[in-house]
Amino acid sequence: MTGRFAPSPSGRMHLGNIYTALAAWLCAKQSGGDFFLRIEDLDPMRCPRSFADLILSDLEWLGITWDNPEVPYQSDRTEIYEQYYQKLYKEGLLYPCFCSRAQLHVADAPHASDGRVVYTGTCRRLTAEEIREKEKRRSPATRCILPDREICFTDGHFGLQVFNLARDWGDIIIRRSDGVFAYQLAVTIDDGLMGVSQVVRGSDLLSSAAPQIYLFQTFGFQPPEYFHLPLLITQEGARLAKRDKAADLGFLRQQLAGPEPLIGYLAWILGQINKPEPMTAAELLPLFDDKKIPGHDIVIPGDYWEKLL
Ligand code: GLU
Repeated sequence: MTGRFAPSPSGRMHLGNIYTALAAWLCAKQSGGDFFLRIEDLDPMRCPRSFADLILSDLEWLGITWDNPEVPYQSDRTEIYEQYYQKLYKEGLLYPCFCSRAQLHVADAPHASDGRVVYTGTCRRLTAEEIREKEKRRSPATRCILPDREICFTDGHFGLQVFNLARDWGDIIIRRSDGVFAYQLAVTIDDGLMGVSQVVRGSDLLSSAAPQIYLFQTFGFQPPEYFHLPLLITQEGARLAKRDKAADLGFLRQQLAGPEPLIGYLAWILGQINKPEPMTAAELLPLFDDKKIPGHDIVIPGDYWEKLL
C-alpha cells in the first residue's frame, strides 16, 4: 500500500486537514505501506509557498512522517500535466469552453446529488467557425468529454459506489481559462506517477473518485483503493472551515505545549479510543482500526479545544 496526503495550502491547516492527514497516515502505516506528502498548490494566487512550508512544519510537529524525500509541489509540475493534457487532446477528448459562471449556474442547470452543477455540453457542439469568433472575445477553459458510462467502486468506508459520468458530472474542466490545470487532471497524474494505491480523504471528494477513475484508466494507471472519511461539521451543521479560528493549527499550536492532546482528541473522534486522552501519533498507530471510524459526519463543538488544555 502507498498512501498519501495531498493538501492545498490556501491557508494554515485546520482541524479537518489534520484529521485527514492522521487518518491517511494511520491507514498507510498500519498496512505496512509508505505514506507520501504532496502539495496541491496548482493555483499560485490562492496557494503561496509560505502556507505550504507551514504544512511541512505542522505535520512534523504532529509526528506525522512522510516517506518521500522530495515533496512534490504541483506548481512545479506544469510540464508533466501538459504531456498528459496532450494525450487527451490527441484522443479528441478535449474542447474549448467559453461558458461564463453565470451561464453555468442558470436556474434550470442540472445538479448532481451533492449540489454541483452538471455541465450539459453547450460548447461541445460549437463549430470551428463559432470557436474562432468566441476566441476573439474570451479565452476558453478546456473540458474533457466524459462518456455516458457507469463507474463502480467499493469505498473502504462507504461501501459500493455507482456514478454515471455523464449524469453525475458531465464534461469536466481540465484546464482553466487562465491556463491553470484543474485538480481532477493533476491529482490523477500525480497519484498515478507516485504509485499511490490508497487514497484516504474527506467524503466531500467521494464523487470525484468517478472522473478520477476514468482518467486513471484513460492514462493507463491502476486506480487506487478509496477510503473516504466522514466530514467534520460545526454544531450548526456547516462544514468546518478555515474561518473557524478554534480549528486553525496556528491557534492550536499557540495554546498547546505539544500535539498529544490534539492527537488524542482526533483518535477519539475517529472512534479509536473511548475518551480523549493525550497520546502521540506513534502510540495511536498500533491501536488503529479503520472499522471503528464513524459512518456519519462528526460534530465539533466550538469550544472543543478548551478541553485539550
Ligand atoms: N488537495 C485537495 C484538498 O486539499 C485534496 C485532494 C485529494 O485528496 O484528492 O482538498
